Amino acid sequence: MKHINIIGGGLAGSLMAVLLAQKGYQVRVYERRPDMRKVQLDGGRSINLALSVRGIHALEEAGLKEEVMELAIPMPGRMIHHRDGSLEFQPYSNDPSNYINSVSRAELNKRLMTRSENLAKVDYFFNCRCLGMDFETGEAEMLNTETGEKFKLDGETTIAADGAFSAVRYDMQKTERFNFSQDFLTHGYKELEIPSAKGGGFQMEKNALHIWPRDEYMMIALPNLDGSFTCTLFFPFDGEDSFNSMQTKDQVKAFFDKQFPDAVAMMPTLLDDYFENPTGSLVTVRCFPWAYQDKVALMGDACHAVVPFFGQGMNAAFEDCSELSKCIDENKGDWAKIFDQYQHARKANSDAIADMAIENYTEMRDHVNDAEFVFQKQVEHHLENHTDSYKSRYEMVSFSRIPYAEAYRRGKLNKEILKKITAGIEKVEEIDMAKAEKIIKEVMG
Ligand SMILES: Cc1cc2nc3c(=O)[nH]c(=O)nc-3n(C[C@H](O)[C@H](O)[C@H](O)COP(=O)(O)OP(=O)(O)OC[C@H]3O[C@@H](n4cnc5c(N)ncnc54)[C@H](O)[C@@H]3O)c2cc1C
Repeated sequence: MKHINIIGGGLAGSLMAVLLAQKGYQVRVYERRPDMRKVQLDGGRSINLALSVRGIHALEEAGLKEEVMELAIPMPGRMIHHRDGSLEFQPYSNDPSNYINSVSRAELNKRLMTRSENLAKVDYFFNCRCLGMDFETGEAEMLNTETGEKFKLDGETTIAADGAFSAVRYDMQKTERFNFSQDFLTHGYKELEIPSAKGGGFQMEKNALHIWPRDEYMMIALPNLDGSFTCTLFFPFDGEDSFNSMQTKDQVKAFFDKQFPDAVAMMPTLLDDYFENPTGSLVTVRCFPWAYQDKVALMGDACHAVVPFFGQGMNAAFEDCSELSKCIDENKGDWAKIFDQYQHARKANSDAIADMAIENYTEMRDHVNDAEFVFQKQVEHHLENHTDSYKSRYEMVSFSRIPYAEAYRRGKLNKEILKKITAGIEKVEEIDMAKAEKIIKEVMG
């Protein structure tokens, strides 16, 4: 069987390597960074991600579910930290067996790498950066950043999983009729830390995604296996309260004391973390086509980076792997057909999750504080409990594999349904279920 080049040994590239090797392909993965199993990256910071059903399904297809779930901490809901210091737990689902999972990005990536290398059909080449691609020949130009040596990858089939600022996509932009857009939010992010309690254990509820919603900005925290939490402050770049306006330790301390007092008490390294850790930007990337003939296809953030407010970027990238794997099985060896089917199956879905992720930002930083929002969530859970015909958008996105585009469509109809059902009522107990069923049927069509 021919061999496949994968550019980018991140989450999607490493999972795709496993799936391809299982089909018998010889795979070569070229990764810009050093081997993270030998060298500590990201300054040793622990960064975690929310893994949910779509990602878990893809891992299961690769035979990796059990191994990865050992790393996971279940988060069945959000823990809201209100300004007055009170806590409020909001479950994500009315079914307690539904939860999202906090997983260490680095540990997950390492396991994917190790598993693919163990398959003996996969070779990793680290410190190998792709500089670009010639689309006529399909040859990628590479640089070994350790030796300074440049080399070319042959024109066999290539999968580009080289992230949101993909070098392959950059050159694809120069091909005819290639559509591309990138939109940065006016907010960026910074990772901070809540360490484990003295003597071990968690300083806050372990099984929750913690949120400090503050209207124009927010902080979140996800648990790590060692008892610590990785916090992320999502904050405007400019303006009165912003990364640019907070330049001194006194300013940062005063701001955190005022806005997140319960968290500050648990953050002994806050000021060092704030000034040492980089400020990240948040981008939505859309493009099409994702493939060029039988030569190359983009995958994951390289073709659809989304903002992180639905916790779906990695899950969507893993769903790409599932879809590409299915297309390979259905179109034996015809790579032009494989890539074409794959890109058409995924494009509308990746656009939908991009839009939903942006919408969810306002929900997380603002609406979760709102009594009306909390009531609507209670109504949604009540409907889910008492009828099979209603599913909330969060449920469809995080706890099902209903295509994102369909979840987006049905989510818009849900708003109409909720408006009609809650008109004139103030308590969940006042819902007339016969009437509610009728409304759901009418609106869903
Ligand atoms: C703050 C934040 C929080 C997030 N939280 C979540 C979450 O909770 N849940 C979720 O599902 N998603 C989350 N995401 C999104 C998730 O991180 C991405 O969607 C996911 O990493 C995409 O995987 P990928 O393999 O496509 O890209 P990446 O993971 O970025 O991997 C790309 C790889 O390619 C390598 N590379 C880059 N350029 C080159 C080159 N020129 N040559 C060779 N190699 C190269 C990189 O070193 C990297 O290893 C979050 C993102 C951010 C920014």
